[in-house]
Amino acid sequence: MSDKITWPDAIQPLLEKYKDTPHPLNYGNLYQLVVMVILSAQDSDRNINNLAPKLFEAFPDMESLSRATPESLYPFISGVRNFGNKTRWLIELANKIKEDDKIPATLDDLTALPGIGRKSANVILRESGAPAEGVVVDLHVVRVAPRLGIATGSDPKKIEKQIMEVLPQKDWDAGMAMSFLGREICRPKPKCEICLMNFVCAYYREMVIKGNNN
Ligand code: SF4
Repeated sequence: MSDKITWPDAIQPLLEKYKDTPHPLNYGNLYQLVVMVILSAQDSDRNINNLAPKLFEAFPDMESLSRATPESLYPFISGVRNFGNKTRWLIELANKIKEDDKIPATLDDLTALPGIGRKSANVILRESGAPAEGVVVDLHVVRVAPRLGIATGSDPKKIEKQIMEVLPQKDWDAGMAMSFLGREICRPKPKCEICLMNFVCAYYREMVIKGNNN
């Protein structure tokens, strides 16, 4: 990790750019978000957005989902990766929570539910407006954060910890901002020339130095 960058300052343009960007999952309420976050693990947001309307027509709230059987859910989510486990998790979770307004509002309580890890819990807290207890680290952030130099390695938990150490809690939305950057600009093949973070980015500086030496 770079020791020259003051990340609480350097991250501000990124936070500013994406602060009002809606989450890529088109959810209508917190119940829908919880279900969609679980379904989207290892699948694409687009796929989940496409199947969501029919799913929520059949299961409009936590209570109706708690009465679902695997067979009644399969027609709606059989196109989702790992749908067998996800079906089980959704039914189990709905039976634990029972009502939409009992959806937990802390990281510990959310991660105690089946199918919800730290990343999903951080997303749910963020979207529900609860104070951040961690940083969203998804596949995009695992790519972007080490390129930027704000974290090292490829373990999401370790990347999250490093970001939490260098940024104050008020800036922990940097995870979601990096995720948006990763979707738009810092793709597997990054568009560094048009990236607003290239002034601090370790990957970009290395490329420029290499280019100058050629
Ligand atoms: S400058 Fe390039 S590598 Fe760095 S964050 Fe931007 S797009 Fe990614």
